[in-house]
Amino acid sequence: MEHRLPIRIAVSGCLLGEAVRYDGGHRRSSYVTDALGGVFELVSECPEVGIGLGVPRPKVRLERSGNVARLLGSRDEDLTPLMDGYARQAATTFDAARVAGIVLKSRSPSCGMGDVKLHEDGAVVAENGTGIFASRLAADLPEAPRISEADLESPARRDHWLTRVFALAELRELSADPPDAARLYDFHARWKMVLMAHSERTARRLGRFLAGTRGGRHALPRYRKAFLAGLAEPASAGTHHNALLHLAGHLRKPLDPAVRDRLGGEIAAFLAGEIPLAAPVRSLAAWAKRLGVRSLADQAYLAERPRPLGYREAIYRE
Ligand code: SF4
Repeated sequence: MEHRLPIRIAVSGCLLGEAVRYDGGHRRSSYVTDALGGVFELVSECPEVGIGLGVPRPKVRLERSGNVARLLGSRDEDLTPLMDGYARQAATTFDAARVAGIVLKSRSPSCGMGDVKLHEDGAVVAENGTGIFASRLAADLPEAPRISEADLESPARRDHWLTRVFALAELRELSADPPDAARLYDFHARWKMVLMAHSERTARRLGRFLAGTRGGRHALPRYRKAFLAGLAEPASAGTHHNALLHLAGHLRKPLDPAVRDRLGGEIAAFLAGEIPLAAPVRSLAAWAKRLGVRSLADQAYLAERPRPLGYREAIYRE
């Protein structure tokens, strides 16, 4: 399905090459600017500039006290309420702008997620903190998938994040229109195999849920929440292998046995870590189109995504 509206991604401004870091520098990520920027509409945000700290500025830090992390300035002033309030506003703005994904700078006391240095009395005591801005976005925008520029370098994590972005963008379009049971069933049919690769349990549960409801206004919010939670679970080579075999099953009858064997070999090669997921997916999509297999015609699992993203193009090593 073509998206009717541009897909928007919020990004830490320094990753876009903007000179907004404390030292007047940036941390431009070419994957973010070139690949994501060529496909999505990027929305820049630097929360430390946003709260008025200026450029250049003294470094801020995360200070741990008990279970709570606070953002402290260079003179130990507590910037937490200011940053938290700013992040609340940003979350509201991102939501109104239909942001479908967020890329945040790793290790930053504002933007970092799970890898930020935590201080106690001037000493670093751990490196697993989450910045105040990132924490608030996670709480107020739980649906929008978040990733750091560091995790974008992992093919499996990047593909997972992109899958969630495409799904949320499509769900947002579905939710924007008047509720319509048929469109919700269509969505489920399109995305079921993707969901199966991430959470078979959720896919089956939602299938039963839709069969037992007349869909529409009341079904959509419950469906949406459960679907996105299931999709947030990581897939593995094994679960993708199961999905590929299932999709290939739709081609069993119309395919010539020699082609069927070749396709089976490609699927096995993916499981063995010899070729990327994109290879068997493209073969399945091409044969489904050539043979006019209606049940596979509109499958999100087989959808061609813009090539610059490198979606499913690398071999998973983790
Ligand atoms: S990490 Fe966040 S707060 Fe720091 S410069 Fe980049 S965008 Fe600004």
